[in-house]
Amino acid sequence: KALAPDEISHLALDIGGTLIKLVYFSRNDSWSVDDKGAKSPKGDSPLRVSCSNLDYPILYGRIHFAKFETSKVNECLEFIRSKKLLHGGRWHHEAPVSDKNGIKATGGGAYKFADLFKENLGLNLDKEDEMDCLVGGANFLLKAVHHEAFTYMDGQKEFVQIDHNDLYPYLLVNIGSGVSMLKVDGDGKFERVSGTNVGGGTFWGLGRLLTKCKSFDELLQLSHQGNNRVIDMLVGDIYGGMDYSKFGLASTTIASSFGKAISENKELEDYRPEDVARSLLRMISNNIGQISYLNALRFGLKRIFFGGFFIRGHAYTMDTISVAVHFWSKGEAKAMFLRHEGFLGALGAFMSYEK
Ligand code: ADP
Repeated sequence: KALAPDEISHLALDIGGTLIKLVYFSRNDSWSVDDKGAKSPKGDSPLRVSCSNLDYPILYGRIHFAKFETSKVNECLEFIRSKKLLHGGRWHHEAPVSDKNGIKATGGGAYKFADLFKENLGLNLDKEDEMDCLVGGANFLLKAVHHEAFTYMDGQKEFVQIDHNDLYPYLLVNIGSGVSMLKVDGDGKFERVSGTNVGGGTFWGLGRLLTKCKSFDELLQLSHQGNNRVIDMLVGDIYGGMDYSKFGLASTTIASSFGKAISENKELEDYRPEDVARSLLRMISNNIGQISYLNALRFGLKRIFFGGFFIRGHAYTMDTISVAVHFWSKGEAKAMFLRHEGFLGALGAFMSYEK
């Protein structure tokens, strides 16, 4: 039987340092999502899942996605309150409803906000480990969802169909507020091999300080209009417009991020915020691309999947990461992106209902 429009089930949360990601399930096919905030990642239709894949028996319907700023957790509470949550978070024909008022939650906020959810909604947050969830979400997307993974180079997006038997091992790089790098060897088989504190939170925080932007989207938009060559010191700036060809460094290679913002003839106001935003995005994406490559090299991994809300399907970000991986690996390793990039943890928590 189809659920009524406000009836949802299997609600799962990933409460991160910056954003709360929410995933839930509905069976009503005629339901179009128009609630504020209740959008799939790119604002297109919800993920329709009807695969009879035995690994994922709960999936016959639609998975919906929503996100909220963690600092505005009340908006998330309000959103959940407006929905009719069947059997707490869980909807299943046969399953006994023992943990009636529990919903799966991951991320640090599952601990930090546990009391808030209990007091406001009477919901227990059933905590799942965030790395387990990241990997669970990524494996689910890579195995069960068509047209999920893609490469992005020189403005060209190309979907890659992954052979299930040839998925592992791979490096998963999740770029959230901070960055985690995981070597994934199978379902539930992984190791956190590295990470970096220079991540999405750094881009947004530093970007805000430098440009006075009011929102992340504004900063991203600004970076789109900028030119980093005004701010970054290029090899050509040092070599009089020439390449440093002995070591394969083109004149356009960045020698020093922000290295040109030191001119004594320029006032600080002469540096345009759009150029600053672009340099910053380039610096952070490049750095993450390089560290990812080094970790892929450590373990002989050829494929690197990038997730996390930092990416936002932004062309320049993906291009920079891809070029960094390509450049450092001399074409040996490939950067790949995921359509549901920001929802890996939330999807992993969602999938854990079936455990
Ligand atoms: P976390 O779990 O740490 O919150 P996410 O995967 O949600 O990590 O990514 C958070 C990062 O995503 C931010 O640091 C920022 O770079 C980027 N981001 C994308 N969209 C937004 C947004 N609307 N508001 C704030 N940050 C955003």
